[in-house]
Amino acid sequence: MTRILRASGADSPVLREAAAILSSGGLVAFPTETVYGLGADGLNADAVAKIYAAKGRPATNPVILHVEGIASAKVLVSHWPEVAQRLAERFWPGPLTLVLPASALVPAIVRAQGPSVALRCPSHRLALALIRAVGRPLAAPSANRSQHLSPTRPEHVASSLGEVVDLILDGGPTEAGLESTILDLSRERPRILRPGPIAPADIEAIIGPVEIWEGAVRAGEAQAAPGMAERHYAPRARLELVEPGTGCLVSEGRRAYVAFGALPLLPEGVRGISLPLDAEAVGTRLYALLHDLDDEGFDRILVEQPPDGEAWMAVRDRLRRASAKGSA
Ligand code: AMP
Ligand code: MG
Repeated sequence: MTRILRASGADSPVLREAAAILSSGGLVAFPTETVYGLGADGLNADAVAKIYAAKGRPATNPVILHVEGIASAKVLVSHWPEVAQRLAERFWPGPLTLVLPASALVPAIVRAQGPSVALRCPSHRLALALIRAVGRPLAAPSANRSQHLSPTRPEHVASSLGEVVDLILDGGPTEAGLESTILDLSRERPRILRPGPIAPADIEAIIGPVEIWEGAVRAGEAQAAPGMAERHYAPRARLELVEPGTGCLVSEGRRAYVAFGALPLLPEGVRGISLPLDAEAVGTRLYALLHDLDDEGFDRILVEQPPDGEAWMAVRDRLRRASAKGSA
């Protein structure tokens, strides 16, 4: 069994051990404010290769480098535009990832051989302490097998990657619960590649109009950005989206029905779950709910279409991908 250890602070022995494992090319799972990450030294190509092997992640899907601040981000890019400066000053540390042209320091495997690198400064105190202790950027995609649900609690990591990770740092349940917003600044018009906790309007308030990649809002789009595969973030149970108020029309298997607000009348034997009409609260709870339903052995999860509107964009995106058929 992997060890799951609580680190009390930046100078705790557990944190020092985690940093030592990372410095010598090993893997450590750690909490961020979004989900748990599977960390490796982001400048060590062999260490990053271990992340790909552990997750079964396709080599075409680049990873995000986690940095401790603006100064350490700048050395990883060939150009740090003024919009990046303004956004980082406003939203870092926090759940906003910026895609920029990479400098020669960034290994090809991190970029999936492409010209750009994705950077973020997480706000979780353990994540920041770990990055500082290692003194290098950490590659840290979500600590789950490729295409599966992201972990929001240490035990999710243990059940998905238990055998392959050297240590899991326990920071309790994560706060935002959904992956970071990804903004591509490597092109002329800034474009949101993945909706997340930071809403488009928050970004537009700082840098003016941004485009939103169609694949992030609509089903069936081709893969325009590396790694933005249609099916992703999926539970083992079959997840289907239904119109609000439909009720459970499926008759076989262990079934759960998730509504936003009031539940419709459900047949006996169907577990009804009413989520609040609050996008942020739903984001925090969504993955943990799906993990729990998987653990309880549900076969079918019917989820009502979330409400319209920008606040719900990230939740809609994850549910749409979780319900998509086929593979990456
Ligand atoms: P995660 O698996 O949550 O760490 O998210 C990583 C995602 O960030 C990938 O799946 C890509 O969609 C995106 N990403 C990482 N690096 C880049 C890049 N250089 N260009 C565009 N998107 C990127
Ligand atoms: Mg992921």
